[in-house]
Amino acid sequence: MMPKTGFTTKALNVPYAKEDPHKALQMPVYEAVAYEFDSAEQIEANFKGEYIAHVYSRSSSPTVEYFELKLKALTESQGVVAVSSGMAAISNTIMAITRAGENIISGNRLFGHTLALFKQTLAEFGLETRFSDLKNAEEIEALIDEKTRAIYFETVTNPQLEIPDIEMLSEIARKHNLLLIADSTITPPNVFMAGSFGVNIEVISTTKYISGGATSFGGAIVDHGNFDWNLNPNVSTYIQKFGKNALIAKIKKNIYRNTGGSMAPQTARFQIQGLDILEIRVERCYQNCMKLGKFLSGHAKVKRVDYPGLENDRGYERAKKYFEGVPGTIMSFDLESKAACYRFMNKLKIIRRATNLNDNKSLIIHPESTIYAEFTAQERNVADIRDTMMRLSVGIENPDDLISDIEQALE
Ligand SMILES: *Cc1c(COP(=O)(O)O)cnc(C)c1O
Repeated sequence: MMPKTGFTTKALNVPYAKEDPHKALQMPVYEAVAYEFDSAEQIEANFKGEYIAHVYSRSSSPTVEYFELKLKALTESQGVVAVSSGMAAISNTIMAITRAGENIISGNRLFGHTLALFKQTLAEFGLETRFSDLKNAEEIEALIDEKTRAIYFETVTNPQLEIPDIEMLSEIARKHNLLLIADSTITPPNVFMAGSFGVNIEVISTTKYISGGATSFGGAIVDHGNFDWNLNPNVSTYIQKFGKNALIAKIKKNIYRNTGGSMAPQTARFQIQGLDILEIRVERCYQNCMKLGKFLSGHAKVKRVDYPGLENDRGYERAKKYFEGVPGTIMSFDLESKAACYRFMNKLKIIRRATNLNDNKSLIIHPESTIYAEFTAQERNVADIRDTMMRLSVGIENPDDLISDIEQALE
């Protein structure tokens, strides 16, 4: 047994599922499709569930399994499924807990492709999403009926940087026997212990922070073990055989296996390393965010800064309560016009123009003309996407260099 330790110590010391024959200190990449058995009887026992072993890497493999074990330990959760991307985590989860004719309630400020998944893809299979700004309990409760299965939200919306009232959402979910699902991509597990705020399932794009800095695509589904699966008719049939692991079993033995969204072993290797260095990267990005936030807030040409780590931000109190004061390391800020934003972006020499988040490099984008380009003006207005706004994902560069870059680009 390891003593109780801090996040990084824990990350570095999660034991392998099986002892490595060579005592490798780094989990090897098992880049194999299939695994062999000693006898026909052993294969039979495996298929009956009596002899647990890796069989075929679309279902499970040692390197991916180790990534899952590590994330499970770090999130102090019941179980984790690693998948090929954040979108795979979201789609697998929703497919596992719903069926045609049912509905979920979701925040209306969502990652663009999540919105498209709910509005287009899943709608075409008969799942309805009822959107809400998730601010008013009565309005949310008015959307709930006997076919509602979950409330879905993002811990910090992007690029608006709004933090919902997670305790209120958790209370409503419990009262109506609904799952509470959080996309916690922006707030990684070293700052957000989702299970202790009533979140039942976390979906994470590990492509972002956990990959170690834009190294690879990945996703994770984290089950906090705090939901009674008898309350969900689509999962309850798995309880008899799998008990508390009913959801994980349904995903692994049905949805994920049958739709083929597995994480590749080489990717898992990057993601394992990413967890090892997650805490120190977040800390550096956060320090940079605070310095940039203060600099931008004091600059005459900057009209508005949103970062809930800053004391005067509307989300500051919730950031302290939920995320230990570290509400991710994405910020947005406004200049006087769209033209001013473009001029500024084009003058940057260190900060890169790109659409990703939580790379080691600082990345900037103008959401109105890119991520939200396919939306109508009305939809952008509802989502509070201003054409004067830019989103900055803050990296690990030296802060003085980032400030100088911004300063010269604002001139
Ligand atoms: C990037 C992102 C996703 C999708 O993740 P992919 O790994 O790109 O599929 C989902 N939610 C949020 C909040 C994201 O930032």
